[in-house]
Amino acid sequence: MKEQKTMILIINCGSSSLKYQLYNPDLTEVAAKGLIARIGESGSYTEHQAGQMRARECRPVADHKAAFDVMVGNLMHSDLAVVDDARAITAIGHRAVHGGDVFMDSTLVTDTVLEELHACARFAPLHNPCNIAGIEECRRRFPGVPNVVVFDTAFHQSVPREAHVYALPYELYSECGIRRYGFHGTSCRYVSKAAADILNRPLEDLDMVICHLGNGVTLDAVKQGRSVDTSIGFGTFCGIPMGTRSGDFDPAIIFHLVKERGMSLEEVEALCYEKSGLLGISGFSNDMREVVEQAEAGDDRCALAVDIFVYQIKKTIGAYAAAMDGLDALVFTAGIGENSKEIRSRVCAGLGVLGVRIDERLNSMVRNGYPNISAANASVATLVVPTDEERMIALDTFRLVSGETRVPPPIAALEPTYAERV
Ligand code: ADP
Repeated sequence: MKEQKTMILIINCGSSSLKYQLYNPDLTEVAAKGLIARIGESGSYTEHQAGQMRARECRPVADHKAAFDVMVGNLMHSDLAVVDDARAITAIGHRAVHGGDVFMDSTLVTDTVLEELHACARFAPLHNPCNIAGIEECRRRFPGVPNVVVFDTAFHQSVPREAHVYALPYELYSECGIRRYGFHGTSCRYVSKAAADILNRPLEDLDMVICHLGNGVTLDAVKQGRSVDTSIGFGTFCGIPMGTRSGDFDPAIIFHLVKERGMSLEEVEALCYEKSGLLGISGFSNDMREVVEQAEAGDDRCALAVDIFVYQIKKTIGAYAAAMDGLDALVFTAGIGENSKEIRSRVCAGLGVLGVRIDERLNSMVRNGYPNISAANASVATLVVPTDEERMIALDTFRLVSGETRVPPPIAALEPTYAERV
C-alpha cells in the first residue's frame, strides 16, 4: 500500500474567495496551494498548483460549500492531487480577521471559541462570518481533525493602553470595546521574527518598525518582539493611505459631508474604504505600480498620491522610533515593500537623522536575494523580508496541535543567497 502522507491544511476563507495551502509535516515545503475566486459571482475560477505544475479552470462556484468541494477535488482527486484522501490531513489552520480583545494568541477551535468568534464579528462584519463559515465547513468535512484559528488582531494585543485607547468617553472603551485593534498582525509577527533571524540577533534585543505595504498598509512598532503601536485602528481604513482606503484624516470631514453635502453614512463609508487612498488622489488606479509609472510619465495627481504615501510612512516611522526610544531595524514587506525600490528609497531618504541609510545598489538587488540593504555607515539595519502569513499560520497550527514550539527556520536557511550578505 502507498505510504499515506500527513499534511497541515491552511485555509483563508474570504467573502468571495477561498485560498488554501497544504504543508508537509515539517513545514519546509508547500505541497500544493490554490485559490477559488469570485465565489457566488459571475466569472468564478479556480487555480491549483502542485510543485511546478499549475492548473486554472473557469467554472461556476455557487457558494462556499461548492468552493470546498472544488478544493477537496483539487487536492485529492485531480490530475494534480497530492494526497489520497482526507485522512492525510492531520490539522487545519485558519486565518481569522478579528479576535477582539478576547484572543491574545492563536487557539485551538472549540465550541466556546466559535461563540467568541461570532461575538467578535460585530467588529469585522464583512470578514469574520466568512472565516467562521470556513471553520465550520472544515469541522463537518474533516471530523476529528483539530482546527486552529490565527487572528490578525492578536499580535497587537500587547499595544499598551496609552496607544490603544482613544481619547473618547472612557465607557466607549470599557463597555463597547471601541479601541485600536490593528490588523496584519500575522504578517508583522512573521516578518519581525524573520528579520531577527536575518540579523542573527535575538528578537528580544531589537526595536523595529515593520512597514507592511500592500493593498492594505500597516506600520507596526515592534519592541523586543512585542507590538507596541500600530497604524490601523478600530476599522481598517485609518493610518497610512492604502490602495482605496483613505488612511487618517480629520473626522470632522465626515460631519461636513453628511451635514453640508447631504451624503448618507453609507456613502461616506464607501468613500473612505473604496474611493480614497491611491485611487482617490490619483483618480487613476489603486495599484501602486501603475500610479508610480503614471507619475513618472508626468501625471501630477499620481505624483501627489505617491508623495502623500511616502510622507505618511516617514512621519510614522519617526513617531514609532520616538515611541520605542530607539530603532534598530526598519523592515519592508508585502507587495509594495518587497517590490518597489523607488518607494523604499524615497521612504528612507531623510531618515538619516534616525540612523537609517540604505545602499542604493543593494536596494536594487533585493530580487537577487539581498535582504539587508543598509549602507555601511547606517546605525539602523534596513531589511526587505518577504511576508508569509500562511507559513505563520502553519507554524501556530503545528505548535498548538503538537504542543511543540517550532520556530520558523531562519530565512537565511531557506534562501541560500540571503546567507551571502548576512
Ligand atoms: P494585498 O494586500 O492584496 O495582499 P499585496 O501585498 O499583493 O497586496 O500588494 C499589492 C500592491 O503591491 C499593489 O499596489 C501593487 O501595485 C504593489 N506592487 C507590486 N509590485 C510592485 C512594484 N514592482 N512596484 C510598485 N508596487 C508594486
